[in-house]
Amino acid sequence: MITGSNTAPNDDSFGHEADAMRTVRMLLVDDSPLIQRLVTDRLAAHQIEVRSISSGSLALQEMIDWSPEVVLLDLELPDGDGLNALARIKGRPEIQNIPVIALSASGDTAETVRAFELGAVDYISKPFDIAELRARVRSAVRTYRLFVMLEQRAQIDGLTGLYNRAHFDTRLQQEIAESQRFDTKLSLILCDLDRFKSVNDTFGHPFGDRVLEAFAQILLSGRLSDIACRYGGEEFAVILPRAAVAEAAGVAQRFREAIETVQWNDQQELRITASFGVADISCTEELSNRALVKVADAALYQAKQTGRNRVCVAPHLFESTRRTA
Ligand code: GH3
Ligand code: MG
Ligand code: MG
Ligand code: MG
Repeated sequence: MITGSNTAPNDDSFGHEADAMRTVRMLLVDDSPLIQRLVTDRLAAHQIEVRSISSGSLALQEMIDWSPEVVLLDLELPDGDGLNALARIKGRPEIQNIPVIALSASGDTAETVRAFELGAVDYISKPFDIAELRARVRSAVRTYRLFVMLEQRAQIDGLTGLYNRAHFDTRLQQEIAESQRFDTKLSLILCDLDRFKSVNDTFGHPFGDRVLEAFAQILLSGRLSDIACRYGGEEFAVILPRAAVAEAAGVAQRFREAIETVQWNDQQELRITASFGVADISCTEELSNRALVKVADAALYQAKQTGRNRVCVAPHLFESTRRTA
């Protein structure tokens, strides 16, 4: 699950060498102070930051709050079974993909098998060799970082680098929930390039692609908290947390002017324009993705119908000032 950043990650964040150097965050869940001290001291020198807790019941919250990249979980804990803690971790979608390495002194094969069945990625028996522990931790983190990278890439549009439709759908749902929880505004801008088919037909698809990339850059120029997505084809969406519709309309107006005034190197006379539909959650009767997209789309449709290159706002569909080309 992806949280945090609103800007789609660029390729630099996936550099493998840089990744290997990054300090690992490891959560150790073990009731033995001796093991806690040993592991913390011996791994710190190897760029593994360890946080220790003594009970399985605290593990869940610590994982949610701190987002460790690996968990070392003792199966013999005083407050009950380590296996129970493991089952609870694997039942929580927001942390279930964090690798858990089971740790046990019992040598009980049935217990080992059960730990794997519940989703542990590895198993280490006590007493352990610290070098081997370190190697297993690094191996688990390597796989996890690859997983996180692929999960992020699956949400990025290949051409523009913006978030894609799949991310838009889940993200809008999250932002609607947030706005309900904190009673804050939330706006949506939908935009569609004007007569884009003829741009492709006249100047070719590679040029059309350049236009899409340039428009994406314009959409990224807003507030850091705004979430720009490629909705599909030549259609884009920007989610604006905490913005009311009037503010969002101002942002859309700036986007509109920005694309209209781009000078295209090899096509001096060319003006590319786009139409915009803007809505916020007070424009919908129902708080859902479908309802918000629907009203913003109706406003966009209005913008197209009334001449393109303009911003229309839901529900009082008024025409914005239009700059004549
Ligand atoms: P309107 O003003 O009504 O939106 O007209 P339009 O021509 O923009 O709309 P239409 O839906 O007829 O055409 C959209 C065009 O967008 C057709 C399609 O080839 C083009 N398109 C979609 N995705 C891409 C892409 O990734 N690259 C390029 N170059 N063109 C694309
Ligand atoms: Mg123990
Ligand atoms: Mg379209
Ligand atoms: Mg279009």
